[in-house]
Amino acid sequence: MQFRDLSKQYLRLKPQIDSAIQDVLHSSNFISGEPVKKLEKVLAGYVGVKHCITCANGTDALTIALKAWNIGKGDAVFVPDFTFFSSGECPAGVGATPIFVDVDSRTYNLDPEQLEIAVKKVLAEGILTPKVVVSVDLFGLPANYEQIKEICSKYNLLLLEDGAQGFGGELKNKKACSFGDISTTSFFPAKPLGCYGDGGAIFTDNDKWADLIRSFCVHGKDTSNPNDPNSKYNNIRLGFNSRLDSIQAAVLLQKFESFRTNELVDINQVAKWYNECFIVEEISDILLPCFGNDFYSSWAQYTVQLPSSVNRSELQRKLRTLGIPTNVYYMKPMHLQGAFLGTRSESADCPITERLCSTVLSLPIDPYKTKDEVAYVVSSIKEFLNNN
Ligand SMILES: *Cc1c(COP(=O)(O)O)cnc(C)c1O
Repeated sequence: MQFRDLSKQYLRLKPQIDSAIQDVLHSSNFISGEPVKKLEKVLAGYVGVKHCITCANGTDALTIALKAWNIGKGDAVFVPDFTFFSSGECPAGVGATPIFVDVDSRTYNLDPEQLEIAVKKVLAEGILTPKVVVSVDLFGLPANYEQIKEICSKYNLLLLEDGAQGFGGELKNKKACSFGDISTTSFFPAKPLGCYGDGGAIFTDNDKWADLIRSFCVHGKDTSNPNDPNSKYNNIRLGFNSRLDSIQAAVLLQKFESFRTNELVDINQVAKWYNECFIVEEISDILLPCFGNDFYSSWAQYTVQLPSSVNRSELQRKLRTLGIPTNVYYMKPMHLQGAFLGTRSESADCPITERLCSTVLSLPIDPYKTKDEVAYVVSSIKEFLNNN
């Protein structure tokens, strides 16, 4: 069994995807071609925001959002301690200081109470200026936006939604990537909506920021005359070369159709089978993913918490011999990553994250898993627990 079976998905969609790629080859318009423009329209409509600007990857998307807000030295950017490295790498990369905040022990997402404590602490220290909250929709689940937005208005902070893992998720029927003042996502192949290489997108309702973002993506070009082909060579700021290829956009347009019409529903069914199997097998000391009824996950990962008595590496080894791949997302709290050693970012009080890093285990999931495969994973875990 594969952890996330991308080849199964390709085989289902092969005729459409192959012909979409062929069309781009015949058009020979490989960068910023028609499929890119169409994809941006389709995704903005789906998410429910005015602007979608595609770019080279989800990491660039975060960096470019921060650049559009002119975030840099002396600014504090609040980031969950339990996330993929980019969420903290990008604020530090533009010169700001990431302040790592503990997460909720059941949803794995930013804990609003801890966020407010961290903001107050930075204000009391009087060295950095609190500017941005990066909220991550971890494992497919939107963060607690009702409370996070309240804190953002109270302290006048900008909200940057890192929806790299969250595309397709919902809170109160509102789609992920619509919650931030700017929101970003990634089309890395293993993300909920993945392409066949690197890709990313930035979403916002704000016209001025959208314009700046389009400029940053193409070497700081002048965007005042969007129809002038020469404006590309009129560079009014330092930018990046960060664009989505036409081939990737063409693949995404095809994959988005099945993402929207069946994959999201199917992966939610697979997650439900996991929940049911764990209950049927009466494995009660493993904590399952858990969130309120207002939330809908796109299940980038199905991540459980093992009791601390279980030797996680032993369990992984055993499962591997049975043909079941698992992964640990994430092994290390952000504030303990070597890149932040000796900086203000290193000092963070995040006991929940520290515990999660030693107990979480992500199980194989994708929209194409069968009920039998899920039952096999769960019964194999049970067997290990009984024998150890
Ligand atoms: C994957 C990921 C990113 C970065 O996306 P890339 O496209 O790989 O650059 C950023 N944040 C989170 C939470 C991610 O999971």
